[in-house]
Amino acid sequence: MDDDDIFLVRFWGVRGSISVSGPEFSRYGGNTICIEMRCGKHTLLFDAGSGLRPAGGALRASGVSDFDLFFTHCHYDHIIGLPAFKPIYDRNVKVRLWSGHLAGRMTTRQMVDEFMRPPWFPVNLDICKARIDCRDFVSGDVLRPREGVVVRTGSLNHPGGCIGYRVEWGGHVVAVITDTEHEPGKLDQAVLGLIEDADLVIYDCAYTEEEMEHRRGTGHSTWQQGVKLCEAAGARGLALFHHDPTRTDEELDVIEKLAKDKFAGAFAARDGQTLKFPVPLHKRR
Ligand SMILES: [Zn+2]
Ligand SMILES: [Zn+2]
Repeated sequence: MDDDDIFLVRFWGVRGSISVSGPEFSRYGGNTICIEMRCGKHTLLFDAGSGLRPAGGALRASGVSDFDLFFTHCHYDHIIGLPAFKPIYDRNVKVRLWSGHLAGRMTTRQMVDEFMRPPWFPVNLDICKARIDCRDFVSGDVLRPREGVVVRTGSLNHPGGCIGYRVEWGGHVVAVITDTEHEPGKLDQAVLGLIEDADLVIYDCAYTEEEMEHRRGTGHSTWQQGVKLCEAAGARGLALFHHDPTRTDEELDVIEKLAKDKFAGAFAARDGQTLKFPVPLHKRR
C-alpha cells in the first residue's frame, strides 16, 4: 500500500492535564495531547501538547513539510509542545494553524502570540522561519483544509470552550472529542453528530463514572460515557484518551479490559500507537 491508500492515525500524546514520566507509565506513555492523521498525502495534526515534539521529529524524518495543525483549545496540556516543535523554525516548512474555540474573543494568531513570548518563553513567534498561516473558524463550520479532506467542527462542554472535530476522507471517519464533560444520564447531541458512524472516536476518558461523582465541573468525561455515545452513534472504534496523569499502566490495562467487555472496538490509546484504515479502490484520488 502506498500513501494514497490509507487513512492513518498516530497517537503522539495521550495523557491529559500534565505530562508524566516513570516506569509505571512506560507502556501507555506520558506525553500530553497530540494526534497525527494522514489522509493519503495530506498530514493533519490535532493539538500541540508535549507529544508534538516527537511528532515534529517524525515529520522531518519522513520529509513532510506542508501540513495543518488544529487546536481543540489552548489549555496547557494541548499547547505546551508548540515551542519545542522543530518544523516551525524551518524556513522550508508551510503550516496552517487553525482554531475556533476563542471565536470572537481572540484570533488564532493572537492566541499563539500570547503563550510564545517573554517572559514565558525566551523569544516570540517572529523567530519562527516556517510560513505560518493562522486560520480562524467558528464552531459548526465545515473546513476543507486540503483537497478531498473534510473537517466538521462542533462545540464541546469544557470550561473556556473546546472544539470537537470530525475528519472525513477516503470513505472513513475519525473524530476527536477531547476535552468534554457529559451531563449524567444524557447523550450530548453535538457529540453524537460528530461521531455518527465513525470508524474511530478518540474520546476524553479522563475518569471513571465512580470518580466522576467528585469531578463534576472539571470538563472531562468517562470511558463508560464514551461507550454509550459510540453505541448510540453506530461508531466502530473507541480510543480511550486524555488519561489522567495519576493513571498507571496497570490501571489502564484494567480500564481497557472493562471497556472492551462492554464495547469490542474499545482500547486505551498509547503514545506511538498507529492505526491504519485502508481506503477502498473507488474512493482513492
Ligand atoms: Zn486537556
Ligand atoms: Zn482542557
